[in-house]
Amino acid sequence: MRENRSLGKVGFLIPTCLLLQVLLVLGNPTVSQNSSEEEKKSYRNYKVLRTQPVDNKDVLDKLMTFAGVEDISFWKYPVMNGSADIMASPDKVAYVEEAFKDMGIEHMTVINDVEELFQGQNPDVDDEYTLKQNGGMSWSRYHRYNEIISYAKQQAARDGMVSYQSIGTSTEGREIGLVKISDGTGGNKPAIWMDGGIHAREWISPATVTYIMHKLITDINYRDLVQNFDWYIVPIINVDGYEYTHTRDRLWRKTRRPNQGTHCVGTDPNRNWGFKWGGPGSSGNPCEQTYRGPKPFSEPETSAVANAVLARRNQIKMYLTFHSYSQLWLLPWSYTRQRPSDYSELQRLGLIGARALASTYGTRYRVGSAPEILYEAAGGSDDWAKGAAGIKYSYTLELRDTGTYGFALPARQITATGEETLRGVAATARALHKTLNTASG
Ligand SMILES: [Zn+2]
Repeated sequence: MRENRSLGKVGFLIPTCLLLQVLLVLGNPTVSQNSSEEEKKSYRNYKVLRTQPVDNKDVLDKLMTFAGVEDISFWKYPVMNGSADIMASPDKVAYVEEAFKDMGIEHMTVINDVEELFQGQNPDVDDEYTLKQNGGMSWSRYHRYNEIISYAKQQAARDGMVSYQSIGTSTEGREIGLVKISDGTGGNKPAIWMDGGIHAREWISPATVTYIMHKLITDINYRDLVQNFDWYIVPIINVDGYEYTHTRDRLWRKTRRPNQGTHCVGTDPNRNWGFKWGGPGSSGNPCEQTYRGPKPFSEPETSAVANAVLARRNQIKMYLTFHSYSQLWLLPWSYTRQRPSDYSELQRLGLIGARALASTYGTRYRVGSAPEILYEAAGGSDDWAKGAAGIKYSYTLELRDTGTYGFALPARQITATGEETLRGVAATARALHKTLNTASG
């Protein structure tokens, strides 16, 4: 899929250049402004189709064969007793529907025109006052990388509790920023790590992580969390991919590092971590969405974050990483169906979080391990945090929604998503604080 999309782009550039020349000859001054717009991939009339829940291994395997087909891609992979969300280009819709019929499964259309949802996803509704108040952020739209980093730096400059450092540089030279929130009391306070934006197209992730960060800094109701923990926050890990989703391809998922010997770009940064790397749910094919990379930590982005976590591994008691979509609070392990020996303890805190989250606006999350409620996926950051860095409480949150909008979740849902997730995280952190005190007392 990736492969064909790139080929499509090459084919697209040639006529654009010719057109550009012709128009330049005609002396049209607006052409160069428009050309970058034109290069952004359009998902006009692409549809997202949802299968009925599948309870048959053969059908599941057949659905997976769509993974390599041009202009067809998964928004949600098929799982046993769950449905799959599959996006198809206008000329592939009939093909997919026919294939469903052959497999004997029903389906419905969840999104009729993906581009239309993207066009309406992120309207600029900011007012100057809010932006000024909040260091350039509004959470009423999805912000760009530069806005997020400059917000983080401003907070550090304004507030003695906040510090900012660069922990590394991406393939394209962007800084990967780490924010620390600490009230400065006590040298050896337990810490909580949060990161977002591993997958580029999951815009609600950095939006939610920065929302939580903002509340921890500014909202007195969460002051106990800053008194009891230090917080380490990386708002966007996959910084190149994130920008690429704003400028070229809204549905880009991977990093932007070229792969040798192929024109397929990028590695899945959540299959690239050095614990059980190469296991199930990861691909060795650079053209696939779940390509694990040529070796563990081949990506400068994952390697930078891993080093930053390792440097603080004795202090960090909980690792939280944010993805979308599906509304899941995932527990280790992701690489195997086997449960860790402390599974019930991790589940206890996960349930506390999910309950607090749901009590905010009624948004329901399922709590469990990835293989049990999603699918096996080796090489993820959550498994690495627990298995390699030794952080006992490691969770992946799959944020809103359950597929009505999917990756096109409208910006008007950012604050509600941020608020409910904040309450879930706060409840879990408070339960963790209690647990740590009981254990040491
Ligand atoms: Zn993700």
